[in-house]
Amino acid sequence: MTEDLIRELELLREFGFTHLDVAPPPSADVAPPPSAAMAGEGAGPTQDSLLAELQAIVTACEKCRLAKTRTQVVYGVGSPNADLMFIGEAPGRDEDIQGEPFVGRAGQLLTEIIKAMKLTRDDVYIANVIKCRPPENRNPEQDELDMCRPYIRQQVEIIQPRVIVTLGRFALQSLTEKGFAISSVRGQWLDYNGVKVMPTYHPAYLLRNPAAKKEVWADMKKVMSELER
Ligand code: URA
Repeated sequence: MTEDLIRELELLREFGFTHLDVAPPPSADVAPPPSAAMAGEGAGPTQDSLLAELQAIVTACEKCRLAKTRTQVVYGVGSPNADLMFIGEAPGRDEDIQGEPFVGRAGQLLTEIIKAMKLTRDDVYIANVIKCRPPENRNPEQDELDMCRPYIRQQVEIIQPRVIVTLGRFALQSLTEKGFAISSVRGQWLDYNGVKVMPTYHPAYLLRNPAAKKEVWADMKKVMSELER
């Protein structure tokens, strides 16, 4: 049972529910296996439940060395059926402590960018290509990126956003598994499995180079126009 499900059942008990009517499992020949493509359709799994199922797996992950030094796994936050997904690199110190992506200084800047787009953090989905903090905020290593890649890809598959904004080099390169140079593709639409990808600078870079904010804003205007279509 996932932690989310346990929490939900505890909540129902607090609200006075003493039992649940659970439908018998459908027979194998009529029930296709749950898949992201079914999320939200009929009685199939919802995007919420698929994300929660995946979260339980990611939270228990010990596939790479970062599991030993993390305080907690930073899975992702936001709307399970967001049209817009922001993908960053890896949790920093604040994120490692709070368990939520982009809550430190760079995160505050990202939140401002989202607000400037007339959206809230709850309207979008925010996650990283690496789910555990690299010690001293060092760059992620290749094997760590490789081990963690299936998780961000599964999040994308479940959420099915219309647009993905990748923040910085590691997010773009790891999601797509292509060696794009951010300086040459920033601001240009790319494709990831049929989803439009807008590569832009990482907010931490903007903290060091505030002059680059205007380029990021130009990229976000392209994103807003695409979402309005
Ligand atoms: N930088 C990232 O790439 N992700 C975070 O969650 C925080 C800072």
